[in-house]
Amino acid sequence: MNERIASISAVVSCMDGYDPDALPVDTARAAIRACLAPVGGVERVATRSALGRVLAEELVPAFDVPAHDNSAMDGWALRSADLEAAGATTLNEIGSALAGRTYSGAVGPGECVRVMTGAVMPQGTDAVVIQELVKVDGRRITVPAGQKRGQNVRAAGEDLKTGVAVLHPGRALSPADLGLIASLGIGEVAVRTRLRVAFFSTGDELASIGQPLAPGQVYDSNRYTLHGMLSRLGVELADMGVVRDDPRALEEALRSAAASADAIVTSGGVSVGEADFVKQTMAKLGEVLFWKIAMRPGRPMAFGRIGNAFLFGLPGNPVAVMVTFYQFVREALFALAGRGDDAALPLLSAQAAHPFRKVPGRTEYQRGIVYRDGAEWKVKSTGQQGSGVLRSMSEANCFVVLEHARGRVEAGEPVQVQLFEGLV
Ligand code: AMP
Ligand code: MG
Repeated sequence: MNERIASISAVVSCMDGYDPDALPVDTARAAIRACLAPVGGVERVATRSALGRVLAEELVPAFDVPAHDNSAMDGWALRSADLEAAGATTLNEIGSALAGRTYSGAVGPGECVRVMTGAVMPQGTDAVVIQELVKVDGRRITVPAGQKRGQNVRAAGEDLKTGVAVLHPGRALSPADLGLIASLGIGEVAVRTRLRVAFFSTGDELASIGQPLAPGQVYDSNRYTLHGMLSRLGVELADMGVVRDDPRALEEALRSAAASADAIVTSGGVSVGEADFVKQTMAKLGEVLFWKIAMRPGRPMAFGRIGNAFLFGLPGNPVAVMVTFYQFVREALFALAGRGDDAALPLLSAQAAHPFRKVPGRTEYQRGIVYRDGAEWKVKSTGQQGSGVLRSMSEANCFVVLEHARGRVEAGEPVQVQLFEGLV
């Protein structure tokens, strides 16, 4: 049991503006967040396998990167004190240094060293003149006026400094992070264990792929969108199939999911017409709240806990599943997985290409297409916005997020969009 949360209803019921029958999106999001704390343990994985994993330790460089001052260019390393105040300077080349091959001697007055990019700066030198500017006459090297101390030199520690923490616990590791870790010579890192998420669809009307479609049946598409969305989050998945609209089947599925998962995501069965036996079954097994969220699509949703697992009961309509997943479940799973970064989806601004119908009092997530028109980013609707029109999600490249209090949008007004790139 998650010790920090005594009771979900105790936490949410004292929130400002909490009304389960007309819950603003922001309040629902905050209510879920208030109930969650990281779950799971820590394991060590090879750096190469750590992409997307949540770091569980602080990474503090044991040495500077780069470890030495080195040349940023191909040219000659010299002592800036030798440079003539005005006019060119002629110096004696006394050797060369390459990346990985150091010039071991000291460089005295009037001397310089041929250097290649990445070569450690020879002792005594403090500037590099690029080869394109230099006149060469045997070992006599003439550099033009205007050179400056420190030019074309990468300072030791300019990337990573000894003792200064570079990555913190809670960070989801990116390709750049893997490179940083490797640049410190670290081959293994501590990460949080993957979140285990079980998911299933509910509904007597659902057929699975491979079965013939009887009259009145639809293929279970939600499990495929959920599988795709959850896979993108890097969680461990347990696909539990289709569960019939039957209290005993639902109870068994929920018990089995709660026994092995940190979170359970279901679709269907939470709308008003269906909620009664779902409510009773869920209430019997744990603590589950049934919400009507002031949003479209996606009004009904259940949130709660059964045993050790948090439950997200999403509506059944195919678009509503995706909208509620991205607006609530994604961030919630990040919080459970121990991600400390701000995981909220960014909201960008685009210009409405045409009027958008909207009534105040609910947040709408219309499906849109952002496109470039001259210097402007504009957004147009994908057309039919029914919550069963999954094609709208497939055609769209963004959600057009129309805020709670907003009414009809006129052409040319700015609207907020959430880009799908990297999401769906
Ligand atoms: P429900 O929320 O269970 O009342 O379902 C609402 C609508 O979504 C109904 O038209 C269902 O047929 C449809 N639906 C529910 N679950 C699925 C699913 N897994 N795949 C496709 N459509 C579904
Ligand atoms: Mg149903």
